[in-house]
Amino acid sequence: MKNNELNNFKFNKKYGQNFIFDTNLLCAIVKDSKINKNDEVLEIGTGAGTLTLQISKVAKKVISYEIDKNLKDFLLEKFQKIHNVEIVFQDALKADLNEIEDKFNEKYHIIANLPYYITTPLIFKFLESQKVASLTVMVQKEVAQRMVANIGTKDYGILSVMLAFYSDVNITRIVNRKIFYPVPNVDSAVVHIAKKPTPCDEKLFSKVVHASFSMRRKTILNNLSSSLKLDKQTVSSWLEKCNISSDKRAEQLVLEDFVNLCKSYFDINS
Ligand code: SAH
Repeated sequence: MKNNELNNFKFNKKYGQNFIFDTNLLCAIVKDSKINKNDEVLEIGTGAGTLTLQISKVAKKVISYEIDKNLKDFLLEKFQKIHNVEIVFQDALKADLNEIEDKFNEKYHIIANLPYYITTPLIFKFLESQKVASLTVMVQKEVAQRMVANIGTKDYGILSVMLAFYSDVNITRIVNRKIFYPVPNVDSAVVHIAKKPTPCDEKLFSKVVHASFSMRRKTILNNLSSSLKLDKQTVSSWLEKCNISSDKRAEQLVLEDFVNLCKSYFDINS
């Protein structure tokens, strides 16, 4: 390993520990995030602090969460003299969102080489927060492909629709598994998610999208009526209002279709 100080460290598979020591890649991730010296950053998964250090050179401050207390002594020593870095030894998934966000004075940016076993819940926890301006995350390549997928492809699904609703999302680079230590079983990709204003009620949107995709092979008519407990006649006229034919499946609907369904939801319920 290139980082001698970590020589005795026992990597914990359970925590998705695959570290990056390649400075070129670390700098490229920070560049992809488009942050500058006025920005505050949340990192999830400090690891050996290699990405943390590169972020701290560009950002105003970095708050980094790490679940593994075995890294505590090493990290506290490493960042002792770097005053714009704070490391919090807590589970970022379980930590209260308000408590995390109280540490930021303004809208903040997320940069992380995410622990893959909790990629999706972590993305949703922060994507839905008003205070998050952008997320630049390293994820498994297959997940990245689902995040950016367009209609008509096999990867198109809930994740693609939800990300398109909240953000402009792009894969900025594909990363070969060999650059990680230890080497994982999959290749990765960096995804940049730039938040944008949402076109309709967010909770309702999520409810409608999840209901629509609840049974992949069922029609939109059947899924909406069974998941939202509405009779078929009501759903039929709701779909007609939105110019969506009842025999379509959720994977054949674009973002605008789901937004239209939300905008007319209260008409059908009144
Ligand atoms: N950022 C480092 C480490 C990435 S590996 C690098 O790029 O090299 C992912 C890191 O997330 C590991 O250090 C792991 O211990 C940590 N982690 C896993 N689950 C976590 C959780 N729920 N909350 C905070 N950190 C977590």
